Amino acid sequence: MAIIEAFMKRLLNKATVIHKAILTPAVYHIRIHSDSIRKAEFVPGYFLRVAVGLDNDALSTKDKIRSYTVWDIDKEKGTIDLAIATESNGPGATWAAQSKVDDQVYFAWHKGKFLVDDTADSYLMIGDLSALAHLYEIRRNLPLGKKVKSIIYHQNMQELYPDIDGSNPFSFTQLPQNPTAELLQLIKEIIPEMKGEKMIYIAGDSWVCVALTHYFRNELQWPSSKLKVKPFWNPEKKGLE
Ligand SMILES: Cc1cc2nc3c(=O)[nH]c(=O)nc-3n(C[C@H](O)[C@H](O)[C@H](O)COP(=O)(O)OP(=O)(O)OC[C@H]3O[C@@H](n4cnc5c(N)ncnc54)[C@H](O)[C@@H]3O)c2cc1C
Repeated sequence: MAIIEAFMKRLLNKATVIHKAILTPAVYHIRIHSDSIRKAEFVPGYFLRVAVGLDNDALSTKDKIRSYTVWDIDKEKGTIDLAIATESNGPGATWAAQSKVDDQVYFAWHKGKFLVDDTADSYLMIGDLSALAHLYEIRRNLPLGKKVKSIIYHQNMQELYPDIDGSNPFSFTQLPQNPTAELLQLIKEIIPEMKGEKMIYIAGDSWVCVALTHYFRNELQWPSSKLKVKPFWNPEKKGLE
């Protein structure tokens, strides 16, 4: 096992935790620093595969890596901000809870397709607590003048945090887990209010992603180029990416 870990450490980028704060009772803000971040190619929506338990022999290799969005990046300073929800109580949550300033972090970049896209006039962003940092990053990087509506939900409103600049651009709604019926009701109210070319972003619980994708594709015949969906976690699985 030690050989695999040593090999992974050589392959991954290395950074240092330089700031840690509690955003809400279940969410940590972690800022990492590395000179390699200054040179990184970056598009809003990129995320990191973070080594969350490299030295923990009790974890399988799969459980040593978890995905976390780049909530914000400062290439001049070489820093990346992460916002990590811990309700999952898995290795990722444990890593976030136990991380401290000066710890080493190993990570790899992942680009994916769930990126900022400025080709629409109005946007609807739908997601849960796990997706909040990602949707903030996308929204913050849309050109000025775009109309953005949102449904950000969680069963416990006190867990939802403001964006990194202190702004509160999203509508927060208290809903239980897997609230497909309630979300569809809200979506049906919002869609007619959206003007011009419309784009939908959906992220978070994969059951919700599947149900809403089905609605947009099959019932509304929504063009796939204007529907961006990214499952972040699955209630029946550990990890995902
Ligand atoms: C591209 C991408 C970007 C992501 N970015 C972020 C981010 O910026 N911040 C963030 O907090 N999360 C983010 N996630 C989600 C995060 O990777 C998962 O929540 C991850 O499973 C948590 O790992 P864990 O080891 O704590 O729990 P796991 O070992 O994966 O899971 C343990 C248990 O918790 C459940 N579970 C997992 N996630 C959640 C959750 N969010 N809420 C409730 N139950 C859960 C699982 O179904 C499982 O039963 C992202 C995921 C992806 C794919």
